Amino acid sequence: AFENRPALWRERLVLPIEAGHKYDRGHAVVFSGGASQTGAARLAATAALRAGAGLVTVFSPASAIMVNAAHLTAVMLKRCDDAAELDERLGDERLNAFVLGPGFGLGESARAYAKAVLAAGRRLVLDADGITAYQDDPGALFEMAGDAAMAPEDAEPTLVLTPHAGEFKRLFPDLSAAEGLSKLDRARQAAARSNAIVVLKGRDTVIAAPDGRAAINPSGTPWLATAGTGDVLTGIIAAQLAQGTPTFEAAAAGVWMHGKAAEFFGPGLIAEDLPAMLPRVFAELA
Ligand code: AMP
Ligand code: MG
Repeated sequence: AFENRPALWRERLVLPIEAGHKYDRGHAVVFSGGASQTGAARLAATAALRAGAGLVTVFSPASAIMVNAAHLTAVMLKRCDDAAELDERLGDERLNAFVLGPGFGLGESARAYAKAVLAAGRRLVLDADGITAYQDDPGALFEMAGDAAMAPEDAEPTLVLTPHAGEFKRLFPDLSAAEGLSKLDRARQAAARSNAIVVLKGRDTVIAAPDGRAAINPSGTPWLATAGTGDVLTGIIAAQLAQGTPTFEAAAAGVWMHGKAAEFFGPGLIAEDLPAMLPRVFAELA
């Protein structure tokens, strides 16, 4: 396994081009939860914009439109109440990277939305409640991810899973319980099984691909162990996906940037502080 440093992905990281316009930089979508849990989606959306997505839209249920509207500026907002409405919105081919799970809540719709996004061939970061939604039938998710990844010119995965240890256990209980498996081996086997890029979070986050590629992340500080930082990570990864960076490199770069942002901020970090540090992280990559 590699250490997750810029040398690993810098050449494949897509950055803004000289004569580019915002549509060249992709359009990321973050699904919001209901009225009482919208903060996570906004953290992810802000991070996606800062991390370079050309446009970012929050898809929100009607119940949460007002609260989202009151707190968004450059991030756009669209209503989305069910899978049929999502299917209609997916007709806009420019929506190319999705985040599902942070603060989303545990209803039926997480699975219906994930299915619609993957069936439409879009790249998806699945986290938090989006992962938990599949705990009774992880195989259904892995199969969909396999089908989505088999698109002809696109042998790379289209799904990125970003579990912390507890969420990992819900999808991969046997790997979680297996003694003698390193964190690296757990993530590698999970990626092979799920047809997805697996980002197994925590200290020394591991990024693993179904083809066996894997990297251990060295950046970050213990101050990341605070509410909402995982939501920010999903947005940073989605921004790289939206811009066209390949999935493994997008996930690896996102994890490195997230950790680096925490290092730059230093002690006292809360999740809201991370997006504001991204300009310094990009300066470091220049
Ligand atoms: P979540 O568990 O979804 O809130 O995500 C927490 C984020 O903080 C992940 O990106 C973790 O990798 C990171 N993190 C949590 N604890 C630590 C730690 N002790 N050292 C470094 N990073 C951490
Ligand atoms: Mg989380």
